[in-house]
Amino acid sequence: MINETRLLDTFLALVRIDSPSGEEAAIAQELEARLHKLGLTVELDAMHNLVARLPGQGTPFLLAAHMDTVMPGRGIKPVVEDGVVRSDGTTILGADDKAGLSVILEVLQSLVEDQPPHPPLEVVVTVQEERGLLGAKALDISRLQAKMGVSLDSGGPAGAIVVSAPSADLISAVMHGKAAHAGANPELGINAIVAAADAIHNMRLGRLDEETTANIGIIQGGTARNIVPDRVTLAGEARSRQLAKLEAQTASMVEALQAAARQHKTTVDVEVKRSYTGYAFTEKTAIVSHLMAACRAAGVEPRLVPTGGGSDANIFNTHGLQVVNTSMGAAGEHTTEECVALSDMATCANVVMHCVRSLIS
Ligand SMILES: [Zn+2]
Repeated sequence: MINETRLLDTFLALVRIDSPSGEEAAIAQELEARLHKLGLTVELDAMHNLVARLPGQGTPFLLAAHMDTVMPGRGIKPVVEDGVVRSDGTTILGADDKAGLSVILEVLQSLVEDQPPHPPLEVVVTVQEERGLLGAKALDISRLQAKMGVSLDSGGPAGAIVVSAPSADLISAVMHGKAAHAGANPELGINAIVAAADAIHNMRLGRLDEETTANIGIIQGGTARNIVPDRVTLAGEARSRQLAKLEAQTASMVEALQAAARQHKTTVDVEVKRSYTGYAFTEKTAIVSHLMAACRAAGVEPRLVPTGGGSDANIFNTHGLQVVNTSMGAAGEHTTEECVALSDMATCANVVMHCVRSLIS
């Protein structure tokens, strides 16, 4: 049975271990020790991605989460009040995704204790999810035996099932200009900042429709007030749950850069990289229907939701697995207001427990 007190203790212990993306050694060691103690075999790769296995009967099932957290996330001091855990206000809480980790650990502990029939479980805990799914991208997914599973990395109360996620492109550009003295002979220069500004001005950015977004997030350039700048770098992105829309948006951003370069008689270097590929499931998809049934068995009405964000589930699905992201209970992720109610985490754990146990027919 899911034990709320133990679940809370696990959560408090995990959030007290600093784990900003790229600094996961300590949390990986803690998770390895806990999983090992529960009788799982544990493997860590060079990046500290963790794969653990609990034997069972039938077809293997995947439980996934990530161990890194965003900033400000050092020295987190969790405060529990009226069944809700928050930070002390100076940091994030780290429920994203330590609530997911705690749910998985509680489900495993409960299975090991009560010994009900269950499928073999493969637990994957990645690093550097928050840096662009870098851990999942580096993980040797061909080693996984599970073909289906859940990732506990969506916010909101229990019952959320993320059935579609976008594809995303990363767009990087260097707008070249020509340096000149801004007071003595500006006509000899080409202002790369002005060219970049024209390019951005001609881009459609922000929310473009309910499934497509675009952003320029970084612009850097210029060296001095009195020098016509000869170089500006830009970094942006586009996302859509429709691949054709993503490709059109990315192409239009590239064209805006090239048109501005032509207009200013200069050049631009543009690099486009597909960051991850989206997925779209329906309630008929096997994992979705299993999870919906599990929600109802746990007394929660399932909510099928789309997301505008990528997660490790995108990477698993790209490799041919069928993985949906589902809630771990947190709210206000990536802010100092982040919090999680113990009762939500416990319900999420019950959903996962029902899902796992229903896979034994
Ligand atoms: Zn997360």
